[in-house]
Amino acid sequence: MRKVAIYGKGGIGKSTTTQNTVAGLAEMGRKVMVVGCDPKADSTRLLLGGLAQKSVLDTLREEGEDVELDDIRKQSFGGSWSVESGGPEPGVGCAGRGIITSINMLEALGAYEESEGLDYAFYDVLGDVVCGGFAMPIRDGKAEEIYIVCSGEMMAMYAANNICKGIMKYAQSGGVRLGGLICNSRNVDNEKEMIEELARRLGTQMIYFVPRDNDVQRAEINRKTVIEWNGECNQADEYRGLAKAIDENESFVIPTPLEIEELESLLLEFGLLEDA
Ligand code: ADP
Ligand code: MG
Repeated sequence: MRKVAIYGKGGIGKSTTTQNTVAGLAEMGRKVMVVGCDPKADSTRLLLGGLAQKSVLDTLREEGEDVELDDIRKQSFGGSWSVESGGPEPGVGCAGRGIITSINMLEALGAYEESEGLDYAFYDVLGDVVCGGFAMPIRDGKAEEIYIVCSGEMMAMYAANNICKGIMKYAQSGGVRLGGLICNSRNVDNEKEMIEELARRLGTQMIYFVPRDNDVQRAEINRKTVIEWNGECNQADEYRGLAKAIDENESFVIPTPLEIEELESLLLEFGLLEDA
């Protein structure tokens, strides 16, 4: 089983990209479990078709410790499983706790056992905070393979670089590796070339360039992944392409983060290029 974590700046498209990619993997016959690691608990709604998913923390609060596997995971699109960690009540406690509790619970209840037949576990992890509980998937070896969602916008690249610092820190001891950058386009000038260059300097690859497309919103309004909503459209093929690229990926590295000056000069260099 491959254990994959998706990191990236808040709002960059982690949950959207994760679920659409999982739909692509499911279509290829892969068995996937998605674990939402964001207190917002919005990591699985497209796969679940909008079904309300009670989070692991809420289930524990309401039902006590005596829970079963099927109390905390739901069957979702294409035979995938969906789990939401959830978070503490606002203002109370560390939001990262939910991840630790959930993963431990899933392990204890046997969700990762051979007999479950999983090909992948995907962790959709909040924001760019590679600290505390949010670092847990990479710190404790729960995730072995990281993809960072970013775009050509400065803060997204800045966050990607920070996440690389976090990966580097835990790579020696824990064995976590970076599988690549997923460029989720914001239609920035020279975006593809710039992210390819950023990836190269980080010692990794841009594994896929996902175009910005309003069909993502159209599917979202219908509470579906693009593949489920309209499997014929171009964006559905893009997500199939990303799923295939991840499925076939063999490049796993310890990243080499950039100094802030180098990151800024990259932005200047590409931002100033004339379009052909
Ligand atoms: P995150 O999980 O990183 O916080 P989301 O996945 O919730 O971000 O994405 C935020 C919004 O961006 C979503 O509501 C979605 O509609 C939009 N979005 C993401 N990717 C694309 C894309 N490729 N094209 C168009 N809209 C997108
Ligand atoms: Mg999200």
